[in-house]
Amino acid sequence: MGTDNYGVLFDAGVSARFLKKVLRENEIGIEQIMAVFITHNHTDHIRSVGCLGEKYGIPVYATEKIHAGIDTGLPPNERLYISRRIIEKEIAVSIKDLKITAFDVPHDANECVGYLVAYKQHKLVLATDVGHIDEKVGEYIRIANHLIVEANYDREMLFHGKYPPFLKKRISGGNGHLCNSETAEFLAANFDLHLKNIWLCHLSKDNNHPELACKTVEVAMRQYGIRIGKDVNLVALKRTTPSEMFILDNTPGIISDTYY
Ligand SMILES: [Zn+2]
Ligand SMILES: [Zn+2]
Repeated sequence: MGTDNYGVLFDAGVSARFLKKVLRENEIGIEQIMAVFITHNHTDHIRSVGCLGEKYGIPVYATEKIHAGIDTGLPPNERLYISRRIIEKEIAVSIKDLKITAFDVPHDANECVGYLVAYKQHKLVLATDVGHIDEKVGEYIRIANHLIVEANYDREMLFHGKYPPFLKKRISGGNGHLCNSETAEFLAANFDLHLKNIWLCHLSKDNNHPELACKTVEVAMRQYGIRIGKDVNLVALKRTTPSEMFILDNTPGIISDTYY
């Protein structure tokens, strides 16, 4: 995400080659990526971080603990040296005009964070791989104008699905992932009209459907009189297909600039 001229990347779960292709299709050069911020060291979040950091020279920001996790998760020839940047939770870092703050997220990595990006009047919050919405995660979700939040699985699909019991337990435990209904109920109960856009992310391939995730949020919202498409926009992000670019310039009620 970013402005008209530059941006930052959150996580690096796809190959650098694929990332470059998608950026190119959106007329963005990799040299416009000023920084990579990592949420945690699980493979689906760090696949190309070594290449982006050391080959392309993009600074990689993460807490000390997350960096230690990245070190153990990458082959020695992909480790981060010159691109390594240490951040502290709750202390904002400036990347040009973007102010980025990491906050604690409960998940079964050695540490996991979400991010708040503040730019002009916009506050975008990313909260993925969230075991449960604790006080801290809730605090950040509530301040977002634009929210990317996990809706990993549908409870029925997970429990009746083919995953082995240990995996079902891991996913649904307090340090695993968020299910559609937990996300939906929190968003509905805590809704404020300053929230303009919700993107559901990290949907499970086996235990969820984009339509089902959206429907669950929509039904919960409706019980509070909140109308999807009128009061707030809702999109479920696809797993492997890149999304279109979302331009937040024209969001009513927010004086604006462009994000991608
Ligand atoms: Zn994870
Ligand atoms: Zn993940």
